[in-house]
Amino acid sequence: MKVVAYSIKSYEKEYLALANQKKHDITLISNPLSLETVAYAEGKDAVIVFTNDDVSAPVINKLADLGIKYIATRSVGTDHIDKIAAASRNIKLANVPSYSPQAIAEHTVALALTLSRHLIQADEHSHHFDFKLDTLVGFNFYGKTVGLLGLGHIGQAVAKIFKGLGCRVIGYDEVFPEYNDIIEPVSFDDLLTQSDIISLHVPLTDSTKHIINKTTLSFMKPGVMLLNTSRGALINTVDALDALEAGRIGYLGLDVYEKEKGLFFEDHEHDAVKDGLLQKLMTHNNVIITPHQAFLTKEALQQIADQTIKNLDLWQLDKCVGNSCVCAKNCRVAESIIKPIAN
Ligand code: NAD
Repeated sequence: MKVVAYSIKSYEKEYLALANQKKHDITLISNPLSLETVAYAEGKDAVIVFTNDDVSAPVINKLADLGIKYIATRSVGTDHIDKIAAASRNIKLANVPSYSPQAIAEHTVALALTLSRHLIQADEHSHHFDFKLDTLVGFNFYGKTVGLLGLGHIGQAVAKIFKGLGCRVIGYDEVFPEYNDIIEPVSFDDLLTQSDIISLHVPLTDSTKHIINKTTLSFMKPGVMLLNTSRGALINTVDALDALEAGRIGYLGLDVYEKEKGLFFEDHEHDAVKDGLLQKLMTHNNVIITPHQAFLTKEALQQIADQTIKNLDLWQLDKCVGNSCVCAKNCRVAESIIKPIAN
C-alpha cells in the first residue's frame, strides 16, 4: 500500500520502520495534515494521522478527490476526525483502540504525586540551594477517595495504581465493567461530591465536551485535585481557571489542553503572542501542564506502530480492521455478518 504519514516526529520513525518491515511504501512527513499539506497524499492509498492533524470535512473531501481510501490514526481518540464526512466519501477509518494503558495511567499518577508533594517547586528551590521546607507540605494519598470518570482501558489501569497507594477508588462509566473488585461504582454526582482526587478518562464526544464546567465544579469538594490526561475539551478551561482562583480546585494536572491544536508538539517559546489562558494557568504553582506526553513511552510507541501497520495490512487484504474500526457506519458490524472479525 502507498501511504503518507503526517506529523511524524523523529522519535516515532524507528518504531514505524520496525513494525512495517518495508511491507508498505510509507512517506514520512513532519508537517501536520491540513488543507495546505493535503497534496502530499496524491498517488497514495492511505494516510496516517495523529491527534492534532486537521481531519475535518474539507480536508477529507480533498483526500477523497486525491483517491485516498483509508485513514489510520495513531491514537485511541478519534475526536479529530469527521467520521460522517469520511463515510460519505467511502473512506475507511481505523484507530489504535488500546495501547499500553499503563503508559497513560502512570503519567496520570505522576502528575498527581508531583502536585501533592510540590516536586517542581522543591527541585527549583534545591537548584538555588534553598532547602527550606515551609512551602512544601504535601498530603498522603493513602485513605483518600479517587474518582475516575471513564472506566475503560486507562481508567482501570489508573484504578489499580491508586488502589496500590491505599486509596478508595470510586468510578462512573456509562457502561460499568461487569466485575471489578477495585472500583466502587457510583453515580456521576456522587463521584463529584465524594472525591478528593478526580481523574478524567472518557473520550471527547458531544456528550462529554465541557463535562467539567462551572456547575460540575461547584459540586466538587473544596481543594479537589483535578487530573486530565484524556482530552482538553472535557474541561471548560475558563471555568477551571475561575475555580482555581476561588480555591475550589486545589490542584490541577493537565496533559491535554482545550486549545492545544497548533500549539502542543512544537516549540513555541519565541512566539510573539502566546495563549493567554494557558499563561494564566501557568502562573499558579498548584498547576502542572505537560504537552500531551502521557502516551510517550517506548512500549506504547511500539504498540501504536504495530497496530497502525496491522490496520494497513488488513485493509490491503480487503479485510475489516476489527476493533480498530472507527467508521461512522461501523464496517465491523456489517462485515461480521459475512466473514469473521479479523484481529
Ligand atoms: P476506552 O474506550 O477503553 O474507555 C473509555 C470509557 O469511557 C469507556 O468505558 C466508555 O464506556 C466511557 N464513556 C464514554 N462516554 C462516556 C460518558 N459520556 N460518560 C461516562 N463514561 C463514558 O478508552 P481509553 O483507552 O481508556 O482512553 C480514554 C481516552 O484517553 C481516549 O479517548 C483518549 O482521548 C485519551 N488518551 C489520551 C492519551 C494521552 O497521551 N494523553 C493517550 C491515549 C488516550
